[in-house]
Amino acid sequence: MEHDAPRIVDGKKIARMMSDSVRDRIKQAGGGTETPPKLASISCGRSEGSDIYVNMQSRIAREVGIDFFPVELPETAGEDEVFSTIDRLNADDSVTAVIVQKPLPVGMDHDKIVSRLRPEKDAEGIHPYNLGKILRMEARIVPCTPGAVMKVLTSEEVDLYGKEVVIIGHSAIVGKPLSLMMMNAMATTTVCHIGTHEKGWLEEHARRADILVVAVGKPAMVKRGWVKPGAVVIDVGINRVDNMIVGDVDFADVSEKASIITPVPGGVGPVTVAILMRNVYRAYREQKSLAG
Ligand code: NAD
Repeated sequence: MEHDAPRIVDGKKIARMMSDSVRDRIKQAGGGTETPPKLASISCGRSEGSDIYVNMQSRIAREVGIDFFPVELPETAGEDEVFSTIDRLNADDSVTAVIVQKPLPVGMDHDKIVSRLRPEKDAEGIHPYNLGKILRMEARIVPCTPGAVMKVLTSEEVDLYGKEVVIIGHSAIVGKPLSLMMMNAMATTTVCHIGTHEKGWLEEHARRADILVVAVGKPAMVKRGWVKPGAVVIDVGINRVDNMIVGDVDFADVSEKASIITPVPGGVGPVTVAILMRNVYRAYREQKSLAG
């Protein structure tokens, strides 16, 4: 049977619309009299990979009117130094949000470090308090990548009610919170992971999906044979292969089956950064008790 070409999600366009809205709201905040939101970014040492992310965050933050404030600690920084930096930023009322960049020094646990933040300043939405809020359907500051997947689906007007959603990948920053968000949206949700793969059941689950989300970190792992005709396919993966960035989905192959598909790059990635900016705005709004 002839297959119509899928709709390719334009993540940059979605991100631009979100950023425009954040910029407008910051401009209007407090009738224009409030100081802008201030996002502190803690890094320990530098690497080419992390510099690219930090520079991008800094550029987009400035574009929307967020004061981006880099706090650079040495690569040799110990846990005490990072904790005291966080304590200082927690106590500083001019700092409305904090992000702890990866990688951290070897042996330092990112979850433990983030747990030291005041939850209302948690730009990435990954403090245990904010993750717990998802369970209660009260989350305002959401983990950025799962938030981006949900935003892509609403932007594409994908109805989730009762639909079969299969998520491949169960990390604490992507698959697990996303599964809760999908359940909150009344999707019938299955989460697969390495155990599913090792038992040989992965493809069978994937083929049932009306909406298939892949967040594994294995280039072009998902092929057309895994995909139900007409499925929506969301590729979260970011993999560097021969100096190119590719996703976890074999884009050309799966395009033969999908109705909507996200490309890599240019799909979920830019929306993730826009969710970060929206989180920073929401944190600011709540701290300043602003409406809207
Ligand atoms: P992770 O390594 O923490 O988790 C990987 C998950 O995949 C685990 O649940 C693991 O059990 C599962 N897995 C591993 N091999 C598998 C296999 N063969 N079959 C099925 N499941 C398997 O990774 P993560 O941090 O969640 O990131 C996943 C991917 O998403 C990476 O490519 C990462 O770069 C990307 N990512 C993208 C964004 C974004 O904004 N687009 C954000 C975070 C992560």
